Amino acid sequence: MTTRHIAVLAFPFGTHAAPLFTLVRRLAAAAPDLRFSFFGTAKSNATIFSKPEGGRSFDDIKSYNVWDGLPEGYVFSGNMLELAEFFLKATPDNFNKGIAEAVADTGARISCLLTDAFLWFAGDLAKEMDIPWIPFWTAGVCSLSVHMYTDVIRSTTGMAENTNQTLEFIPGMSAIHVADLPGGVLSGNLESPFARMLHSMGLHLPRATAVVINSFEELDPTIINDLKTKLQKLLNVGPSNLSLPPPSNSDDSGCLPWLDKHKNASVAYISFGTITTPPPNELAALAQALEASGVPFLWSLKDNSRHLLPEGFLERTSTTGKLVSWAPQLQVLARASVGVFVTHCGWNSVLESITGGVPMICRPFFGDQTLNSRVVQDIWQIGVRVDGGVFTKGGTINALDLLLLNEKGKKMRENIGVLKGNAIKAVGFNGSSTENFKTLLELVTI
Ligand code: UDP
Repeated sequence: MTTRHIAVLAFPFGTHAAPLFTLVRRLAAAAPDLRFSFFGTAKSNATIFSKPEGGRSFDDIKSYNVWDGLPEGYVFSGNMLELAEFFLKATPDNFNKGIAEAVADTGARISCLLTDAFLWFAGDLAKEMDIPWIPFWTAGVCSLSVHMYTDVIRSTTGMAENTNQTLEFIPGMSAIHVADLPGGVLSGNLESPFARMLHSMGLHLPRATAVVINSFEELDPTIINDLKTKLQKLLNVGPSNLSLPPPSNSDDSGCLPWLDKHKNASVAYISFGTITTPPPNELAALAQALEASGVPFLWSLKDNSRHLLPEGFLERTSTTGKLVSWAPQLQVLARASVGVFVTHCGWNSVLESITGGVPMICRPFFGDQTLNSRVVQDIWQIGVRVDGGVFTKGGTINALDLLLLNEKGKKMRENIGVLKGNAIKAVGFNGSSTENFKTLLELVTI
């Protein structure tokens, strides 16, 4: 039998490559005969492949570095989008070069392309090679629906940015407001490389053999059933943090024992993901709210932002709070003492909060985050947006009170408990995500 050699094309920014790698690890564990070549930039691959998994190396998953597209002598401006756009300009040539190297290395032709859904041009590559294209959408179905319906949204709204208009003309999206849409759909520069990429992706996904998503069917049944009519196959295989937890994060800062000293559902955990830091005035307001409320907190804040905290804040809150530059978030959110997650609503954070059963205070910034926060607040009712959309001292104290002390907060905790139960069922024996994963495995092994 010829070796099945799967080329995995990652989008090497934000938390995109990590969940794709998790999916690949899961496939590799289920089908040891498969060989994977994983393509990303040197920087992204170094992070992804650095975590040992119980001493096991990733023998059947080989990483290949592709060009990041940065011009000679480039100096980072601090704008991540700029990095992504340079990278996009270098595609698909950089990936083609990497694929040729992997084929020469292994002597095995590529039998399937498994890619980040952003990399829609992989549909053309797969067609040329006459092999399946399986894109992986690393966010939720609500944002996937927005990108699949971009032309409909543009024509129905007449491009008018009436921010209160809702998307009732799309199945399952009547609670979504125009103001929640990611930039590049109606607002912002629709011709930017990033906006054009997302638009093209929405147009090309119906050509894919199957679209895989890190979610579970029971979370958004109406949207999922609608998208199933537009795509050849939509396979919800998540939440991946339950079906195959990532190589465990170390707890060098002692977050977990610190959390275990606190009462159930009493601590606020704060993190804004791998890219975002709130503006200085909002960081200060959040810190003031934590100090004034006396709520115990664990805050993951990048070292280079510490100086933005109010003077003396860390000393004054040393008995109630703990500040770290990185927290083992998955394990943190599973701790009984965590009562609320103050989050930017990146998709991985939202899923991890659901599987931890922790309601959210949302402060979204860009991309799908605002959509996610709308769904969290108004559809699933498992959290709230901060008042006025930005951190103020008063608004944040109110939100903390609501979630930690109020009956409404208790109800949100119950609601999220139901979703958590559904997530556990989905990845269990005969669960929907388990069955979808079996289908995916068949598709990559034929
Ligand atoms: N994360 C973590 N520790 C931290 C901050 C973040 O483990 O201190 C992880 C978190 O568990 C999640 C990811 O980083 O898996 C953030 O992903 P998300 O999609 O929420 O946001 P992004 O980084 O893409 O903005």
